[in-house]
Amino acid sequence: MFRIIIYNLFFLLIFFYNILSVNTVPPIIDIKSSTETAIVILDPAHGGGDFGVNFQGVYEKDITLKICKLIKKKLESSNPKISVFLTREGDEYKNKDDRIMFSNNKRANIFVSIHCDFIQNPHVSGYKVYSMAGKELTGKKENSELIKWDDVHKYHIINSLKLASFLHQYLQARLISEDSTLTGNENDDVLPFLSRGTDIAYLYPLIGLDMPSALIEICNLNNNNDVEYIKNSQVLDSVAYHIKEGIINFLNFINQSNEGIDEK
Ligand SMILES: [Zn+2]
Repeated sequence: MFRIIIYNLFFLLIFFYNILSVNTVPPIIDIKSSTETAIVILDPAHGGGDFGVNFQGVYEKDITLKICKLIKKKLESSNPKISVFLTREGDEYKNKDDRIMFSNNKRANIFVSIHCDFIQNPHVSGYKVYSMAGKELTGKKENSELIKWDDVHKYHIINSLKLASFLHQYLQARLISEDSTLTGNENDDVLPFLSRGTDIAYLYPLIGLDMPSALIEICNLNNNNDVEYIKNSQVLDSVAYHIKEGIINFLNFINQSNEGIDEK
C-alpha cells in the first residue's frame, strides 16, 4: 500500500491509456542479443518492523522480498550485461529516502517497486501497475540547473509510462514457460491473477528518483484467491518471470529507440 494523490486532470489520459494497454499480448523479443549494459533496481517494499499489509499470516514485506530475489536471479541469468541491485537484501527496515539515494547513486537505468495491496472490497482481485504523475508531463534538463529532489522524477515521466505499460503487458502475456518439461497448453505460463490495469499517481515511494520508475501492486491480500495463490512458490516464480520479461523488453525497446536510456 502507498500514499496516492490522483490528479483529476489525468483522468481522461488514464482512460485512454488503459484502453490501449489491456489485452495486448506483445511479441517475445530475443533478449540475449540486443540489450546493452543496464542497471536495474528492484525495491522490495517494507521490511523489518514495517510489515506492510498482511492477512492470514501472509506479510507484504516477505512476499515483496521473495519476488524481487527471484526477478534478480532471472534477470542476471538471462543477460550478463544486466546488473541488478535490491534496495534491501533481507528483513530490514530502510526508509524511503535511503532507497532513493541508493538507487540514484548507482546511476540506475530503471527502478521497479514491488508491493501487495489490501483493498477493503474483498472481491477485488489482481495486479495493478502504477507510474508517476506530476504537474508537468515532461521536462528538459539544463546543464547548470539545480534540480529539486521532489521534481527530478518529472524528467522521466514519459519513460516511466512506457515502463509501466511494458510491465503490465508482460504480466498479462501468455509466455512460453521456463519449465521445458511441460508439454501442450501447459507450456503456456499465464498468471492466475487478474489485471486491474495501469494508472498514474503521485507515488510517495518514487519521489526523488532520477530514472524511469514504476510500482506494481501484485495482488489484493484481502482477497482469498489472491492470498492462496501468492502463498504458492510456483506462482511467485511465475510472477517474477513475467516481471523479468517486462523489464527485459522495456530495456530492449529503449535501446532500440532513438531516445535511449534517460540521461543522467
Ligand atoms: Zn506496500
